[in-house]
Amino acid sequence: MQRQRNAIREPARDAPRSGFHVSPLATVPPLTGPACLPLSGRMPQDRDEIAIVGGGPAGLAAAEVLGEAGCAVTVYERMPSVARKLLIAGRGGLNITHSETRPDFLARYHPPGYLDAAIAAFPPEALRDWCAELGEPTFVGSSGRVFPRSFKASPLLRGWLARLERLGVRFRTRHRLTALGAALTFETPDGPLEIRPRATLLALGGASWPRLGSDGRWVPLLEGLGVAVAPLRPANVGFAVAWSDLFRQRFAGAPLKRIALACDGASARGEAVITQDGLEGGAVYALSRTLREAIAARGSAELVIDLRPDLTQDALARRLSGARPGDSVATRLRKAAGLPPVAASLLREAADATLPADPGALAGLIKAAPLTLTAPVPIERAISTAGGVRLDAIDGRSMLRAHPGLFLAGEMLDWEAPTGGYLLQGAIAGGRAAAAGMLDWLAETGG
Ligand SMILES: Cc1cc2nc3c(=O)[nH]c(=O)nc-3n(C[C@H](O)[C@H](O)[C@H](O)COP(=O)(O)OP(=O)(O)OC[C@H]3O[C@@H](n4cnc5c(N)ncnc54)[C@H](O)[C@@H]3O)c2cc1C
Repeated sequence: MQRQRNAIREPARDAPRSGFHVSPLATVPPLTGPACLPLSGRMPQDRDEIAIVGGGPAGLAAAEVLGEAGCAVTVYERMPSVARKLLIAGRGGLNITHSETRPDFLARYHPPGYLDAAIAAFPPEALRDWCAELGEPTFVGSSGRVFPRSFKASPLLRGWLARLERLGVRFRTRHRLTALGAALTFETPDGPLEIRPRATLLALGGASWPRLGSDGRWVPLLEGLGVAVAPLRPANVGFAVAWSDLFRQRFAGAPLKRIALACDGASARGEAVITQDGLEGGAVYALSRTLREAIAARGSAELVIDLRPDLTQDALARRLSGARPGDSVATRLRKAAGLPPVAASLLREAADATLPADPGALAGLIKAAPLTLTAPVPIERAISTAGGVRLDAIDGRSMLRAHPGLFLAGEMLDWEAPTGGYLLQGAIAGGRAAAAGMLDWLAETGG
């Protein structure tokens, strides 16, 4: 850890995470049990009670703002402890936000504009200050991504929960929201519980990594209220490729470093990893919305891979034609084009086995190897979720237009962003903005 900190080098990001054993709360004080924790001397008044359902970053961020405003807030969470996905996000390095310029930063979110006001109110610099106040100063890594000093989520979460405790926020874990109407109904270890808070925030997350708590089972509850929900789809995700058996056996797990990817006018640089059934990694995730939409529209997506983005096609062709006359194509790819075995074999997959002997044509293939992607991997293995409650269902205060007093925040809404810290920044800023909206509404309605 010391080494990483001194070098300000980033941990490996966006590697395949399947098979990871989840024990996220090992280092965090447990917030367990069905009873409300007596977190402060201040007892909530039922009249004022605000319910936050979902104890992820969006819900906790809202609880903080509401607690600071003196509201009686209770967080209801279906799991035995809160923020399990935040803790998993910290595995391998918690990338909490990004340091790029504001226009570039905001351009990462889709649809454009939705989170602009929330991020203006709580921008990356404010998020970094907030981390420091919680005892976890941040630093900018070599790619511009921002990490807490320890790289981990657990110290940050510990500080955050202590702050919420001081603010009098109460937690009811193992409370799953099962019905939504005039009252909220929870399934609890002690049987069903019905509450009628003055205002409610739902921050129930998406549907990726469901064993961490957010499983998308809220969709019928919202649809039952007449709220429009765009289908939940995998985002920041790998894609299936029909590799040959030979390629799969030899290269599953191998990285493709310093490549550029393109599809339908969108492009990304970075790394990818060959998997048993396809391709994943940061550069693929960055294009995942474009790829997913191409597959939905046409049944498959053509991903164009540039294996030497640092060299022009002409420069590559010159290098290839300068190779020794007796060299095989494999040797020329290795020595003249500097391609590792995985990249050379990938060209064969792309060219359907036979590689062109002509240097110009071979250079063209290295610069634009076409690969057919047939499907995103299932949402359970995605980093995040696209789709969710349609943004036109909520107003500028994050309140459902058709259901006054019911607010929404975080990944359960229909926005998406690539990896790079944008998701947590969006969830936290969005949660805080929804809390501000609740305060506004409470004041307006005689709170
Ligand atoms: C492996 C992985 C790595 C990631 N790494 C990063 C990263 O480095 N940087 C980054 O920016 N983002 C990262 N993310 C994404 C980030 O963690 C999420 O975008 C973020 O947690 C979303 O916050 P949220 O509060 O909207 O939802 P969630 O964190 O999903 O929280 C929702 C909460 O609601 C609870 N809940 C759901 N249904 C119910 C119910 N019916 N009743 C009661 N409670 C319920 C869930 O248990 C959960 O605790 C990563 C995600 C994964 C899976």
